[in-house]
Amino acid sequence: MTSAVPPGEFEIISRYFARRSARSDVLLGIGDDAALLQVPADRRLVAAMDTIVEGVHFPAGTAARFIGHRALAVNLSDLAAMGAEPAWALLSLSLPESNPDWLQEFSSGFHDLAQRYNVALVGGDTVKGPLVITVQVLGFIEADHALTRGGARPGDFIYVSGIPGESAAGLAVIQRQLQGGTAGDVLQHRFNSPEPRVALGRTLRTLASAAMDVSDGLLGDLGKLCDASGCAAQLEMDRLPVSPSMPALFDAAAVERFALSGGDDYELLFTIAAERVPEFEALCGNLEPACTRIGRITQRDPGQSVVQCLRGGRAVTVATSGYDHFAGA
Ligand code: ADP
Ligand code: MG
Repeated sequence: MTSAVPPGEFEIISRYFARRSARSDVLLGIGDDAALLQVPADRRLVAAMDTIVEGVHFPAGTAARFIGHRALAVNLSDLAAMGAEPAWALLSLSLPESNPDWLQEFSSGFHDLAQRYNVALVGGDTVKGPLVITVQVLGFIEADHALTRGGARPGDFIYVSGIPGESAAGLAVIQRQLQGGTAGDVLQHRFNSPEPRVALGRTLRTLASAAMDVSDGLLGDLGKLCDASGCAAQLEMDRLPVSPSMPALFDAAAVERFALSGGDDYELLFTIAAERVPEFEALCGNLEPACTRIGRITQRDPGQSVVQCLRGGRAVTVATSGYDHFAGA
C-alpha cells in the first residue's frame, strides 16, 4: 500500500491517527486546536506521560508495530500502577521521515492496544526530527482510591506480577541475535509487546497499600517504593518467580541479574497489609498474570541498606542496580 508521495503532516494525522472513538466522553477529538473531554464528576483525573527514544528505549530497526504498542503500553502501565481506568491519550510524534509503511504499522500497533483498553486518541503533535515518541494518557480513579508508592508500612507483604527479568532477557536475545527457539521467541515477545496490567491495577486499588510499575528493574524500583513509604524491605530471592524461558538461554547468574535489575518489565510491584493478605491470597488464583509474594516491608534502619536481599533466610549482597538515564553522565 506504499503511495508514491510521502504523506504530509495533515495527511499523516488524518490517515493514520484520526479514528472515530466509541467513547461518548470525547466531546471534541482530533482536528481542532485542542480536545474537549468530559471528566466524570465523582472521579479524579489521573495523568501520566512517557517518552520513548530510538536507541535508548528500543533498538534502532525495531518493527514499527512494536514501537506503536510500546509507546502506549508504558503509559497505560503507569495508570495501572495507580489503580486507574484509562480513557484518553495524546501522541507527540517526532519522525525522521514520512514513510507510509512505517506509519501504517506504527499506528496499527498503537490503535490495537488503545482499542483493547477502550482508550481514545484525542490529540497530539507531529513534527520532523529524530525518532522520539511521547504519549500522555489520562484516566480516572475513584476519589481516595489511588494507589501510590507511599503507602507501604512495616509488616506489609511485597508482591510482584508476572516474571521480572524476562523482558530484559528478550532485549538481550534481540541485541545479541541469539537463536533461542521457542524460549527466545517468548522472551522477545515480552520485550516487544509489554502488556499493561490495567485489570490487576483496578483489582488492587481497594486491596494494596502501595503500588508502582517495574520499569527500571525490580531492586531499584523496590528501593523507590521504600523511599516513598519511608520504609525498608527484605527481598527473599528464593521466592522470585522462576522463568520457564530464561534458563534455556542464560546461566543462573545472568537470570538473577535480569530478574533483579533488568528493565522494561511493566509488571506491578505492590504491597498488601498483613491483615489483608488472606483476602488477597484467596483472589490470587484468579489473577492474570500470576502474582508472587517476594518479601516483606520492614522498618527503616539508617545502618542498613534500604532493600536487603535474603537467600535461605540470610542476607546476601547482590551487585546490581536499576536503570538511570543520567547515571555516570
Ligand atoms: P496546531 O497547530 O493547532 O497545534 P496541529 O496541526 O499540530 O494543530 O494538529 C492538528 C490536530 O491534529 C490537533 O487536534 C492535534 O491534536 C492533532 N494531532 C496532531 N498530531 C497528532 C498525532 N500524531 N496524533 C494524534 N493527533 C494529532
Ligand atoms: Mg500542534
